Amino acid sequence: MGPIIAIDGPAAAGKGTLARRLAAELGLPYLDTGLLYRAVGRLVLDVGGNPSDVAIAEAAARRLDPADLDRSDLRGPAADAAASGVAAIPGVRAALLDFQRGFAARGGAVLDGRDIGTVIFPDAPAKLFVTASPQERARRRWLELRTKGEDADLATVEQDLRARDERDSARAAAPLRPAADAVVLDTSALDADAAFRAALAAVREKLA
Ligand code: C5P
Repeated sequence: MGPIIAIDGPAAAGKGTLARRLAAELGLPYLDTGLLYRAVGRLVLDVGGNPSDVAIAEAAARRLDPADLDRSDLRGPAADAAASGVAAIPGVRAALLDFQRGFAARGGAVLDGRDIGTVIFPDAPAKLFVTASPQERARRRWLELRTKGEDADLATVEQDLRARDERDSARAAAPLRPAADAVVLDTSALDADAAFRAALAAVREKLA
């Protein structure tokens, strides 16, 4: 079986890009676990529910279908906030556990999220905690939105990111924090290629 590589970190730190490139380089499947919480948040919004409503969110997590991960409305401020809301509910996290473990059990994987190295795969041989300053993360997310033709305001983007990180870090259930044995990679001053080279070197060293 291939290795499990856990990539955690706050929003817009570049985890997804890095994880996808690592997976391609190492020939492993890739799972963006944020999509699971995004899809559950969307299912709650679909029925007019509040993402912090425990019963509605847990029911949505239990009926999540892999096809829901392909929805086109899983990005943007409303989806961000709904995902972070349902993600604070322990029953939602529990309902998504088997899917994540099952995905990697088939032959190793690269997974990115908030609690991969701390809760989902505490024994993963290689763990990265990818981060960057809030200003730099906001700037990257803002550029991404602008590239998509969306009329985003930098200060609002930074405020939303900080609020989401605060909620993800302060929650009791699987809060965002680096695992004790994670390599912390601050990408504030690195471009995507330099971040990838640093991440690959760290992973190779861990797997050696
Ligand atoms: O990674 P992404 O920004 O897509 O995640 C959306 C939200 O889902 C996060 O803000 C967080 O609340 C939640 N999440 C989580 N645990 C994960 C992945 C995402 O709590 N493993």
